[in-house]
This record gives sequence, structure tokens and C-alpha cells, in this order.
Amino acid sequence: MRPPSDRLPHDFLERLRRIVPGDQIEQVLASFHEPKMLAFRVNPLRTSIDEASAELQRQGIPAEPVAWSAGTFLVDPEYRAALTHSSLCESGAIYVQGLSSILATQVLDPQPGEQVLDLAAAPGGKATHIAALMKNQGWLSVVEPIRARMYTLAEILNRAGVTIAHTYLMDGRRVGRKVPGRFDRVMLDAPCSGEARFHTSRPDAWKFWSERKLREQSRKQIGLIRSAFQSLRPGGRMLYGTCSFAPEENEAIVDHLLASFPKDADLESVSLPVDHWQQGLTCFHGRTFDERLKHAWRILPNSRHDGYFLALVTQRAIDPAVGRRNTMNSPDLLPHRQ
Ligand code: SAM
Repeated sequence: MRPPSDRLPHDFLERLRRIVPGDQIEQVLASFHEPKMLAFRVNPLRTSIDEASAELQRQGIPAEPVAWSAGTFLVDPEYRAALTHSSLCESGAIYVQGLSSILATQVLDPQPGEQVLDLAAAPGGKATHIAALMKNQGWLSVVEPIRARMYTLAEILNRAGVTIAHTYLMDGRRVGRKVPGRFDRVMLDAPCSGEARFHTSRPDAWKFWSERKLREQSRKQIGLIRSAFQSLRPGGRMLYGTCSFAPEENEAIVDHLLASFPKDADLESVSLPVDHWQQGLTCFHGRTFDERLKHAWRILPNSRHDGYFLALVTQRAIDPAVGRRNTMNSPDLLPHRQ
């Protein structure tokens, strides 16, 4: 019998076999049809881990703590409806979010008091996490160009008790020129093909997938990463991430940035608390990428994690004092009015 993953586009599967190491491909293919554990994080701006745990117990929802992230839990998929309709979820006390996304924000590591930008922010999973890690202290700019998605984002920020967010309805590609050198940290969870979210139960997800679409997305991603990088102060950090396996949307974009800013851009090597991953690629389809891409991560999907690509880019600190001065003097973006 044909495996269920054969329902996915043939070219997509062919490419995947060239991207993922042979000893891990079966696990990755299985993740396209297996049920996934549901992850959520407790929102400290609304409740405590103890209170949330007690409430889950009262509601009969067993939750397993995730060792590497205090306040993050996993729930069996049979409790999906109970969890997502629970009062905890509806009040913003917990937020259901993929483990790889939670990890990405932890890697960016935003601090209280910093100036932070989320350049592609809706619906707000990472933005609410950023605000929680900042303890609602500092400044968080969130950008989204699609009006309906911006409203959802504003509602989710509000529900999560975030008070430091400033919302901007605009194309993220314009931000870097408007406020160069302004931010300590930037999250760029880029719009992408969503390949790592493909699941055989949702054929709509890959209806429009094609290599041509990947190339189209990559043009936008290049504009966004350049803008994100320009908006960083010297010494600042940017997390570039996608839920795609395609090197055109991942290594090629970071490679373009490293080549465009050879003196200023670098990749930081981080260690992640997961074991199913591969290094960023340094070649694909006859194209080679900067060797530093080995410091990027490809989290491979399994029954707990979504697939995710992430790279931590640093703006080299030539003179941190200059960056700080820029931060204070640079004009602000126009606030979004509802
Ligand atoms: N970070 C979000 C979260 O954790 O909830 C998810 C972001 S989603 C992967 C990408 C977002 O980028 C979408 O909301 C999409 O509308 C937005 N987007 C698309 N084009 C954009 C652009 N030119 N500038 C900024 N954002 C854009």
C-alpha cells in the first residue's frame, strides 16, 4: 500500500529527499500524517504556572511539562478541543503554539527594557511570547500589512495583557529605511510556503505549492530580511525563521544578506535543546551558500515539533554607542489607528 505521504506533491517529496538526511527522512515523512501533540505556553502576564496547572487539573486535561522551557506543556491531541475552548485559552492565560515557534522566540531571547521589532507579526504567537519574556517592559513594534490579520493581532495582544506593543499596518520591507539602527532585537518569522505545516488531512495547504511560488516568496523574503537587518542597531540580533524546508526560502535568503553586508552581518552559533535537527545547508541544486550557514538550524518535524528553519543574525557592533544614539533619535513608524 502507498504511504499516506505520497498524497503530497511529487516534486515536493523529491526535493525533500535531497534536503533531509537519509536516516531522518522516514520520521519526517511520517510527521505529514501522524497526529501531533499540542503545545501551549503559560502567559505570565495573565497567570502563574501553578495557577494554570491547577486549573488544567480541575478541567481534567493532563499536561506534560517541556523540560527546556518553563511554563510550556504538551497535551495529547485528543484534548485539543477541551484545551482550545478552555477558559484559560479564552482569557489569554495560555497560548497554544508549536514547540518550534516557542523555541525560536527563546533563541531571540528578548530582554525587559529593550527595543524590539516583530516584522511579520500576525496572528501574534511570537509577539505575545516576546512581550512576556520582556515582562511588559520596553518597546515592542509589531508590523503586519494585511488589515484583517492586523485586527486579529491587536485582539490577541490585548487578550494576552500586552501593554508595550505598538501596531503598524504596513509592508515590513519599508521599515528598515524608515527607522535604521533602531532596534535591539528583531523577529522575522517570514511569510513562506508553509511546507512544514503540510499535513495529509489538509490538502488545501499545498494546493498552490510549486517551485515558481517558492521563487516568488523568496523575492519578498529578501526584501524583508534586508529591512529587518537595516532596522537593527550595531550589536543587535535578528532571528530569521520560516516553517519551510525549501533552501530558496531559508539558506538562500540568509546567504543573500551575508553577501550584501559582508562587514556588518554575521551568524551566531547557538545550541538548541532538541535532538532531531540538521545544520543549515551549504549547497543545494548546484548552488553553494556561505559556510556560516552551518550555524543555522533546521528543526526536523516529529510527533512533538513542527519543522522550522532558524538563523540568528547579528549586526556586528562597530560602535555600540552610535547604535544606541540612533535608537533614541530615529523617527518612529506611524502608529496604526483602528
Ligand atoms: N510571527 C507570527 C506568529 O508567530 O504568530 C506568524 C507570522 S506568519 C508566518 C507571516 C506573516 O507575515 C503573515 O501574517 C503575513 O500576512 C505577513 N506578511 C506578508 N507579507 C508581509 C510583508 N510584506 N511585510 C510584513 N509582513 C508580511
